[in-house]
Amino acid sequence: MKQTHKKLTNAAQSIAEMIEKKRDLYIGVSDQIWEYAETRYEEHQSAELMAKVLEQEGFTVQRAAGGIATAVVGSYGQGKPVIAILGEFDALFGLSQKKGESLHAPVMIGGNGHGCGHNLLGSGMLAAAVAVKAYMEEHKLPGTIRYYGCPAEEGGGGKGFMARNGLFDDVDAAFTWHPESVNAITSKSCLATCQVYFKFKGRSAHAAVSPHLGRGALDAVELMNVGANYLREHLIPEARLHYAITNSGGISPNVVQAEAEVLYKLRVPRSEQLDDMYQRVCNVARGAALMTGTELEIQFDSGSSELIMNRTLEQLMYDQFVKLGVPVFDEMDNQFAAQIRNTLTDAELKNNLPAELANKNLSDQLEPYDPVGGIFMGSTDVGDVSWKAPTAQCTVASVALGTPFHTWQVVSQGATSIAHKGMLHAGKVVGATALEVLLQPELLKQAKAEHAKELDGRTYQCPIPVDVNPGPVKRQS
Ligand SMILES: [Zn+2]
Repeated sequence: MKQTHKKLTNAAQSIAEMIEKKRDLYIGVSDQIWEYAETRYEEHQSAELMAKVLEQEGFTVQRAAGGIATAVVGSYGQGKPVIAILGEFDALFGLSQKKGESLHAPVMIGGNGHGCGHNLLGSGMLAAAVAVKAYMEEHKLPGTIRYYGCPAEEGGGGKGFMARNGLFDDVDAAFTWHPESVNAITSKSCLATCQVYFKFKGRSAHAAVSPHLGRGALDAVELMNVGANYLREHLIPEARLHYAITNSGGISPNVVQAEAEVLYKLRVPRSEQLDDMYQRVCNVARGAALMTGTELEIQFDSGSSELIMNRTLEQLMYDQFVKLGVPVFDEMDNQFAAQIRNTLTDAELKNNLPAELANKNLSDQLEPYDPVGGIFMGSTDVGDVSWKAPTAQCTVASVALGTPFHTWQVVSQGATSIAHKGMLHAGKVVGATALEVLLQPELLKQAKAEHAKELDGRTYQCPIPVDVNPGPVKRQS
């Protein structure tokens, strides 16, 4: 028993040392992807950078994996087990922001920015995969380590398309992380979701002279939204329904708008509840078209499944986190975090933060692992992978405490020393966990048995219909 413990401690330490040796490489990749700030399915430079580094590090690389232009898979080793490390690299629209600033200062008005820290997410996982590969090579371990460069997590369902196209079919276990302000194991599931465009086509006319000749597409969008808001009362309490008007038809009030479009996002706790809600929202749209005499086109955009939790792998990841500790921040990091903190409201600072961190700028602790779980009221396309194989995730402190995500504050912090420390640390925790699965086949067996029990005979049904293809957001001219 003692012997095993020694071996395990050394494995985590080896991963940590190997990541430290190449820290400049990973920081360089992360900062470069931060600069590219490419949004869903347009991450061509980011994906190519990942592909090049994977090749340099001795992985066999598949570009445009699964027929998805910006998906990359790097593979090393042979046969079973196949361990997947999931990376992302997409940015968000409209969040352009200068790095290292404690006030809102876009680099380019209307430009994009890494408001969810996916530059760190992808680079940290690259570090994990390269370190596991090096350990496997040195110790001649059997099995396969794969880095998945997954595009379009932000509303594009990248991993759903990758899962639908069979890229995770032979995977035995999957791991990833997400930047956050706290260090914790992700033990809550999330909501299954889909995103759908409703496009209305009417007839333009002079709004004052001949309104009777027009058919208002914007009227249809407004009526649809009124209908959807009435529908809300009759949905299950955990359901979430959001919309954004993506084309209001124009800026002239004296024109009857001939075209208008609204993008809906639907969320429910379980994938099997999604179709019923989708059909009901479609009926509301059809009603709006009927009321206004407009034509309706329904265009499914993307979707993702809820997370299937795996306590075996979560516990394993927690154990590695305990061994490795948490990222250590210095005085400069604390000073900048304090400046960011000054830009946050009291409500933001209190949101979901443990009481003992309330007066700190950066987390210096690991949250206790809570296998009771519950549901996080958001969504992630890691859910789709978790249906295919046992999956575990963690968050690592990479931003000031209380920082809300999808904001300029995350973009600003995303290329600083705070973020770099969190990213490298995430690589160590995830890399060490992946390596443990290779070193302890009985643990993987246990994780797989738990996965089968959790699914209880259900199989993965991709929430994205077969005739829907991945693609960038179409901008209105
Ligand atoms: Zn994210």
